[in-house]
Amino acid sequence: MTTVAQTPFQMAQSQFDRVADLLDLNQAARDLLRFPIREYSFAIPVRMDDGSTQIFRGFRVQHNDARGPGKGGVRFHPQETLDTVRGLAMWMTWKCAVADLPLGGAKGGVVCDPHQLSMREQEQICRGWVRQIVRNVGANTDVPAPDVMTSAQHMLWMLDEFETLVGSRQPGFITGKPVGMGGSLARTEATGYGVIYTLREALRARFRKLEGVTASVQGFGNVGQYAVQLLTKLGGKVLAISCWDQKDRCSYTYARSSGVDFDELKGITDRFGGIDPDKARDLGYERMAGDAWLEQEAEILIPAALDREIREDNVEKVASSVKMIVEGANGPTTPGAEAMLLKRGIEVVPDLLANSGGVTCSYFEQVQSNSNYYWERDEVLAKLESRMVGASAAVLDLAERRGVSLREAAYLISVDRVVRACRDRGWIQ
Ligand code: GLU
Repeated sequence: MTTVAQTPFQMAQSQFDRVADLLDLNQAARDLLRFPIREYSFAIPVRMDDGSTQIFRGFRVQHNDARGPGKGGVRFHPQETLDTVRGLAMWMTWKCAVADLPLGGAKGGVVCDPHQLSMREQEQICRGWVRQIVRNVGANTDVPAPDVMTSAQHMLWMLDEFETLVGSRQPGFITGKPVGMGGSLARTEATGYGVIYTLREALRARFRKLEGVTASVQGFGNVGQYAVQLLTKLGGKVLAISCWDQKDRCSYTYARSSGVDFDELKGITDRFGGIDPDKARDLGYERMAGDAWLEQEAEILIPAALDREIREDNVEKVASSVKMIVEGANGPTTPGAEAMLLKRGIEVVPDLLANSGGVTCSYFEQVQSNSNYYWERDEVLAKLESRMVGASAAVLDLAERRGVSLREAAYLISVDRVVRACRDRGWIQ
């Protein structure tokens, strides 16, 4: 077990190395898959509202496209780094493979803080990002999507810039678009709902029902919100939600023993997932420290914010009532913390499976966009649920048969699929 803080890319590499050993991969396969196939780092000059010019740093990393065009979101975050994007691109490769989508893995990012930017400035960043990468992305090359602090509106600006540059309508270039502008119904809900479908399947395999289950959630952005909505709708109870407070520049946990009411909380949340502290108090929520979400007497923890939130230095705070952690975020649990959780008998349903509902629905959106024929919401959700149930069953079953963790099982399935594609193409032997 390592105690040295790892970056997301190092985390992704160490998870891969473990599975490469289990699969006895040869050196060429390891050398190919431990690193991205291509990466781009560029400057985005933006004329700000006050007339000054600011240069933002943008990235796109394509980890592997043996199974299909690259796929993955674009994050806006002040602490974004190329290294983080590398790790996230690698995770996208495994996520698309475990969900059995004909897509590869990629990720993008811009170092910026949308809290401090007007919508016009954000639009310029989106357009500038596309201008720098236009020759290396596209419906059959690499397909971006929303991620941390980017929304359907950002996707539409990116699409508009792309279409202007290539001179034709290209709705399959990007996913997560607004409904009515090439977006799929249920894409917004898909990641959070997928988390709950996966949780339900994991509980079912342990002879437990979703009804009556108690959970504590970190993050009330797109993923956290819809996970909370579906979980409470299906009879679960959310005891606490932790989220970022932009004014105080720290996180707080909002807890209420009677449970969280989704609509009520959503009504007092800003577009970045920040909950209004005064209104929350008026509604009877107790405000606690940011890490307190780990300490709630809940059976399930759902980290749905950023990477490395459950680490060696705070994993001991995880309450003794916790049985399972379902990763709504990408990379929320460090390998060292995971080893300690597993030792305590706490299962971790890994990100590549648990949050694959988003990219699965993105795949549906691409299919709809490319054929210019759009499905009903129920049809999208039925297809999503059936894919999530199938992927969850495969992972749960393999973990049981091989006696490995759920993350190792998910990795075994996905790495094997990607290696096979690379071999079939003749890239490696
Ligand atoms: N950003 C999401 C993820 O991390 C979705 C990616 C996509 O839809 O392409 O899975």
